[in-house]
Amino acid sequence: MKKVIIIGGGLAGLSAAAHLSKKNFKVILLEASPKLGGRAYSFFDEKPQTEIDNGQHILMGCYSDTLNFLKIIDAYKFLNIQKILEINYLAKDKNHFRLKAPNFIYPLNLLFALFSFKELNLTEKISLLKLFIKIYFTDSEKLYGMTVQEWLKKEKQSDKAIRIFWEIISIGALNTSTERASAKIFCDILKEIFWRDKFSSQIIIPALPLSKTFCKPASDFIKSNDGEIRLSEKCIEFVVDKNRIEKVITDKNVYEDFDFVVSAVPFYALEKIIDTSFLDKQPEFHYSSILNIHLRIKENFLQEDFYAFYDSELHWLFNKRTHWNIVISNAEKFMLMGNEEIYAFIITELKKFIAISDDDILLYKIIKEKRATFIPDDFTLKHRPSTETKVKNLFIAGDWVDTKLPATIESAVRSGRIAAGKIVFNN
Ligand SMILES: Cc1cc2nc3c(=O)[nH]c(=O)nc-3n(C[C@H](O)[C@H](O)[C@H](O)COP(=O)(O)OP(=O)(O)OC[C@H]3O[C@@H](n4cnc5c(N)ncnc54)[C@H](O)[C@@H]3O)c2cc1C
Repeated sequence: MKKVIIIGGGLAGLSAAAHLSKKNFKVILLEASPKLGGRAYSFFDEKPQTEIDNGQHILMGCYSDTLNFLKIIDAYKFLNIQKILEINYLAKDKNHFRLKAPNFIYPLNLLFALFSFKELNLTEKISLLKLFIKIYFTDSEKLYGMTVQEWLKKEKQSDKAIRIFWEIISIGALNTSTERASAKIFCDILKEIFWRDKFSSQIIIPALPLSKTFCKPASDFIKSNDGEIRLSEKCIEFVVDKNRIEKVITDKNVYEDFDFVVSAVPFYALEKIIDTSFLDKQPEFHYSSILNIHLRIKENFLQEDFYAFYDSELHWLFNKRTHWNIVISNAEKFMLMGNEEIYAFIITELKKFIAISDDDILLYKIIKEKRATFIPDDFTLKHRPSTETKVKNLFIAGDWVDTKLPATIESAVRSGRIAAGKIVFNN
């Protein structure tokens, strides 16, 4: 049985480990922290006595690798899958409206949804539909050099259409402003979401906390296939000789008996383990933050599972009945603010959208994820390294590897599947 050491127990590492376990490789996964999941985890919070996510994560129907991974580890059953694309909006002055695709022939149902979107006037709808259709035929490579904002303006999208439709997708998937994100990757994800099949645009929300949806089932699967997971063990160095890793040194052990190594740590962590000149490209990542605020409320009076805010610095509200999870993407400005200041800001803003008073909120918790995702600008996209490296028995995974996707669960899981595939092929 060939042995693979995997460094990093985020979703990329877990995906690589699950795929390799399935192919009868002996896996040893080393994770520096005491828990699995990396940037996607949940924990038991003493105060409200409930398990909460570090940040709400949503998946989409087009996340084919993630859905397949969840099937492998028998966790697909933990998903709430929308039957049809539907987004409910919260607007100022307590207004609600929705974008909903009817349940008839795809893609006509999507075109119909956009055309019947009451919030836009006829001219705006026609421009939106024109671009929507044009995306199908667009060669995204030709969009290099343009930001999302420049592209949408060039395609005659009104400010309102940008804010109400395009920005919701862009900020959610790319976690950065439309002025900075690359039009190329935005066009790619729009094709994936809207132009693949009917299922791709459906929004999927884990029904359980993240660690129960991803980490526990993955860990059980790996262990049941003779794999080992060693938590609180940090990789310090790879010793390379003649283009092969000969030793993996951690803060607890020195490993010499292995056939392959998968690095599934973020780029900034890999740089500390090995000189990264062995990668085929030299990346330079800038990161963007996400802020999550969990509110324990006296009584839930919202109907839908989630809402998008229209025209606000708040982006999403996820309604978990016992509590609401509000998400702010591209949240740089909040990273240096104190929790009380953030809370005051959020409540003031929330009151413009929902009839809520201070007394309705029993508890709050703020979680800042500073390096949540890399910023997908043109330079970054062109310099993402591939899985294979000059070091023959080392393969890299992580949402930052060149999967052609933004930094998402799908990119992480795909990168792990690709790294596992290369090992199987090279075996
Ligand atoms: C708040 C938040 C919300 C998000 N929302 C969404 C969403 O809605 N949808 C979506 O698709 N994506 C979302 N993402 C992005 C998604 O979480 C990430 O893209 C994905 O989890 C990255 O996985 P990864 O395995 O590549 O990296 P990571 O999760 O960073 O995992 C790397 C692991 O390596 C470990 N490690 C680091 N150094 C070492 C070392 N030296 N030795 C051993 N172990 C080490 C780390 O502890 C970590 O566990 C969100 C991210 C955040 C933070």
